[in-house]
Amino acid sequence: MLKVENISFGYTKSKVLDHIDFVLEKGENLAIIGESGSGKSTLLKLIYGEYDLKEGHIYWNGKEILGPKYNLVIGYDFMKSVTQEFDLMPFTTVEENIGKFLSNFFPEEKQKRTNELIKVVELEAYAKIKVKNLSGGQKQRVAIARALAKEPEILLLDEPFSHIDNFKKQSLRRSIFNYLKEKKITCIVATHDKNDVLGFADEMIVLHNSKIIAKDKPQQLYNNPKLPLIASFFGEFNIIEPIGIVYAHQLKIVEHSDLKAVVKQSYFNGNSWLIEADFNSRSIFVELVSEIKKDSIIYLKIEN
Ligand code: ADP
Ligand code: MG
Repeated sequence: MLKVENISFGYTKSKVLDHIDFVLEKGENLAIIGESGSGKSTLLKLIYGEYDLKEGHIYWNGKEILGPKYNLVIGYDFMKSVTQEFDLMPFTTVEENIGKFLSNFFPEEKQKRTNELIKVVELEAYAKIKVKNLSGGQKQRVAIARALAKEPEILLLDEPFSHIDNFKKQSLRRSIFNYLKEKKITCIVATHDKNDVLGFADEMIVLHNSKIIAKDKPQQLYNNPKLPLIASFFGEFNIIEPIGIVYAHQLKIVEHSDLKAVVKQSYFNGNSWLIEADFNSRSIFVELVSEIKKDSIIYLKIEN
């Protein structure tokens, strides 16, 4: 179990994180979300032991995680972290990078393990390629495989799929997160992408103004976002009084209602259209299956 106990931290006098407190059970997947600059990476670095805390404590299975003031070498064997700087060996191959920390005493085991990890990050075709010749996304995948090589108990991922294109992203996410679940590896993912969270995270934390402003299961926060900041993470929404936050897909067109709007523009969204309409001189967003001509008058109803 990871225990983050009332921690506060700042690089300067101002606090980047203020009284952050949560626990995470073994094998759970926790997503940390928040706007850019909200302290997601800082929180991961503190959990990794990269900085000394100003206040509070962090424990993994009862063992306190300490910063550089107390540790000559940063980090612990049971924890791996994949940051935005991948820290790979550019002039050696993908498989050598992944196998770097595996024992050479059992070459067959080493090769088997390396192959298994190459498969998890879907880099089979690149095993013998030098890392310097890979794209940013491919490097990111090598870094993840390398972090997993010695099977850590806890894995910290900082925006792990940010460099990976959409062609690969979906299947890679499933592959990695399923692997972590199967091996019961505890995982914390800092992200700004709801697709990293919705199908995978057991719990989700929202950081804002140095504090945790929400913590719950993704389904709960999605269904009951409470704050515009939380809703905005999941999708297009409106604030319609007295109800409050209403997602664009919760609005339906009806014959007649009090919610009368004039269509301004339609945006193609793949399996739907996002319609921007004027409602009492404010924009209202509606998700529909087809586009609607500009200046059409529509009547809307909120559906749950
Ligand atoms: P996020 O990952 O959510 O984008 P960060 O944790 O990187 O946020 O940054 C949180 C705040 O701390 C930002 O205001 C950022 O400018 C500041 N910050 C991050 N790293 C450093 C550093 N090494 N020195 C000083 N300030 C930093
Ligand atoms: Mg960051």
